[in-house]
Amino acid sequence: MAGSLFLTGFRVQCETAGGLMTKIISENSGIDKCRRCGTCCKKGGPSLHLEDRELVEGGMIPLKHLFTIRKGEPANDNIRRSIQPAATDIIKIKGQGNTLSCRFFNPKDNICKIYEHRALECRVLKCWDTEEIERIYSKNRLVRKDLIYKVAGLWDLVEEHQQRCSYDIIQNLVSLYNRDKKTDSMKMLIDIINYEMHFRRLIIDRSGMDPEMLDFLFGRPLTDTIRMFGVENNFHRNLHLFRPVP
Ligand code: SF4
Repeated sequence: MAGSLFLTGFRVQCETAGGLMTKIISENSGIDKCRRCGTCCKKGGPSLHLEDRELVEGGMIPLKHLFTIRKGEPANDNIRRSIQPAATDIIKIKGQGNTLSCRFFNPKDNICKIYEHRALECRVLKCWDTEEIERIYSKNRLVRKDLIYKVAGLWDLVEEHQQRCSYDIIQNLVSLYNRDKKTDSMKMLIDIINYEMHFRRLIIDRSGMDPEMLDFLFGRPLTDTIRMFGVENNFHRNLHLFRPVP
């Protein structure tokens, strides 16, 4: 499951003038300044906000180092401490290999390779006091349209993909299948996953695009994310076989 894992701590209910509110008490409330331990960078890269747009457009954070959690995709919500369907695109910095460690984190020296140009969430995060990051966390999210709307043809492709493979459609088909066990809905779901696989392949073959761009443009492949909806992907002898988790 993807989502920023920046915030560690526990939730408490506090009484305020306006009534009860929930607050995260940091596990690190015993410290009062950054010790450059790198823990936050190892727990997942930041999600980007409109304030980060210049960093991406200026090339400090290249698109190929980002991925998109698409609207409706299950994602960790650190404030509500639960897994929620994303309300909009959430654009995040990729991890290193299969780890959560931010791609710009240098584990050898415990430093950020883009420290002077790090994202808003990285700048406001104080692991001992999460008030500021809680305040900005779900505001002004940067979305794909902000970054590529003007690139001729590219936004059309993103829209076409979104129309055919939206998580609303996926969720509806999964719900239908779970309710009625009708194989039609499972077949339609598998058709969408297969379409998406071919769509990605075609983009690379026809345009010569860097494959590292795909997860930003079209989100993570459905072949990976579909397991969050209870569908198994068994890859065997170069074939994907999808079936509901028994
Ligand atoms: S961009 Fe830099 S500061 Fe932010 S999580 Fe990555 S390595 Fe850490």
